[in-house]
Amino acid sequence: MRRKIVAGNWKMHGSNAQNRDLLSALRAGSVSLGCEVLVCPPYPYLAQVADALEGTAIVCGAQNLSQHLEGAFTGEVSAAMLADLGCRYVIIGHSERRTLFGESDAVLVAKFVAARQAGLCPIFCLGESLAQRQAGKTLEVVFEQLNSLLQVVGVEGLVDAVLAYEPVWAIGTGLSATPEEAQEVHAALRGMLSALDVDVAAALRILYGGSVKAGNAQELFVQPDIDGGLIGGASLVAQDFLAICRAAN
Ligand code: PEP
Repeated sequence: MRRKIVAGNWKMHGSNAQNRDLLSALRAGSVSLGCEVLVCPPYPYLAQVADALEGTAIVCGAQNLSQHLEGAFTGEVSAAMLADLGCRYVIIGHSERRTLFGESDAVLVAKFVAARQAGLCPIFCLGESLAQRQAGKTLEVVFEQLNSLLQVVGVEGLVDAVLAYEPVWAIGTGLSATPEEAQEVHAALRGMLSALDVDVAAALRILYGGSVKAGNAQELFVQPDIDGGLIGGASLVAQDFLAICRAAN
């Protein structure tokens, strides 16, 4: 039985004061959550979040990391630093990193390896653009993204890692994939991995991301291959995020 995960990606939002309010509401509402819950604030607030959530069931993750371990890389943050700050997870390959910051498959795979070396759990994101979906290329695209990772780490490299299927056209648009559309891709990803290792595929958690809200979370999370969600906008509103977490229970 795979335990569901709900991960909040705050993106570049927040301030000390705003976070304090959000975190105190999350603390208060976190008592009876049955799924795994994490929030991923911007780097400067990681320590604030880790401190505020200490003793709760909610853990802290990062939105990005450097592929380099240490050294003269001005402005970068290493996996070891994230672990030192109390992070347990790190998002890798979010479509905003792929498109706005030009992160290639090779860079993302190097980030995955760096995260693993520091004991962080990578949440590796995959997803097709609208044009790719309309051209019938969804599975081709996500298989290619996954293959770039498998070629380096092998299927065994996915043990205790997490995948997130995030159709680019659904991120921040209010236009979620339907439960059937999402399930089809999740099942195909799991099927592809099953052909390599049945046990790794069966245990792997695959999250859905893209305009998940309190109103559609449950119908997505009851799909057999959807193991929770990666939540952007709705993770900034405590009551919405907690409702999504409860839908995963
Ligand atoms: C995301 O940023 O990963 C995301 C899914 O955003 P939203 O929930 O706002 O679509």
